[in-house]
Amino acid sequence: MHPAARSTDANLLRGRLTLGDCELTICSDGTYLLDGGAMFGVVPKTLWQKRTVPDEENRILLGLNTVVVRTGSAVVLIETGIGNRQPEKMRQIHQNQARLPESLAAGGVDPAEVTHVINTHLHFDHCGWNTSTAADGAIHPTFPNARYFAHRGEVEHGHLQLDRDKISYLSANYDPLIATGQMTLLDNDSIRIDPAIVPGISVEMFPGHTAQMMGVHIESGGRHACYIGDLIPTSHHLEPTWVMGYDLDPLTCIEQRKRFLARAVPEQWVVLFTHDHHVPAATLSANDKGKPVATPYQINL
Ligand SMILES: [Zn+2]
Repeated sequence: MHPAARSTDANLLRGRLTLGDCELTICSDGTYLLDGGAMFGVVPKTLWQKRTVPDEENRILLGLNTVVVRTGSAVVLIETGIGNRQPEKMRQIHQNQARLPESLAAGGVDPAEVTHVINTHLHFDHCGWNTSTAADGAIHPTFPNARYFAHRGEVEHGHLQLDRDKISYLSANYDPLIATGQMTLLDNDSIRIDPAIVPGISVEMFPGHTAQMMGVHIESGGRHACYIGDLIPTSHHLEPTWVMGYDLDPLTCIEQRKRFLARAVPEQWVVLFTHDHHVPAATLSANDKGKPVATPYQINL
């Protein structure tokens, strides 16, 4: 077990914050382990290991944060973790715990009351609990009354099953929802015309990690939060050039990070990190060298 995992086992609820009329609850599917080198691309280990300590197999601890937004009559879920249908071999590697249902219960969220689910992209660690597999093998929507939203280009890319990333796209996470019409597929034109999912919650294209990755904006009462998905997966990835080995287009990532930071820093957005278990929310500022740094957002539990 990763040395940092023990202390976090029982801590499934990552925080609550209020943003104008929106109440945000940060839930979690637990933690998982990924290779530190893959998470930091060409950044030398001597640099990244000062920020996050790898275990003896060079893996680092990551979170799987799901943000639940209550606004008006809507209950909106952003991202659904890894889920529970991973093959045993992958569970051994990742040591993930499949705890989102427990976490939602701890946060007072009934799956039946969820009205909208948004997936920033369709990698296995972002949409795993979109559906659940029953004992008889049947696949059901985990959130039976929700409309799901994902980008059409992500589905099409996943269906290609390319050598580079086919392991990341598991069709059971989205195809059954598309077949029943429960998942709405967005595209760049539809987002340009109307980016809103519900009033105050909208999506925006932030390509690079994948060609069609979306960030999710939450705006209310003059406040602004943004779930930036895998464009900036943790608070250790704020430096624009510290992109991941997983990123399909690192140069685009760097440009998109700069574009994001140019708004998030001066406008004091609350940045919601998808894979940072310890700093799920932060505001950003520039240090004396002009580098972006995170100040963990004060969150109540
Ligand atoms: Zn991803």
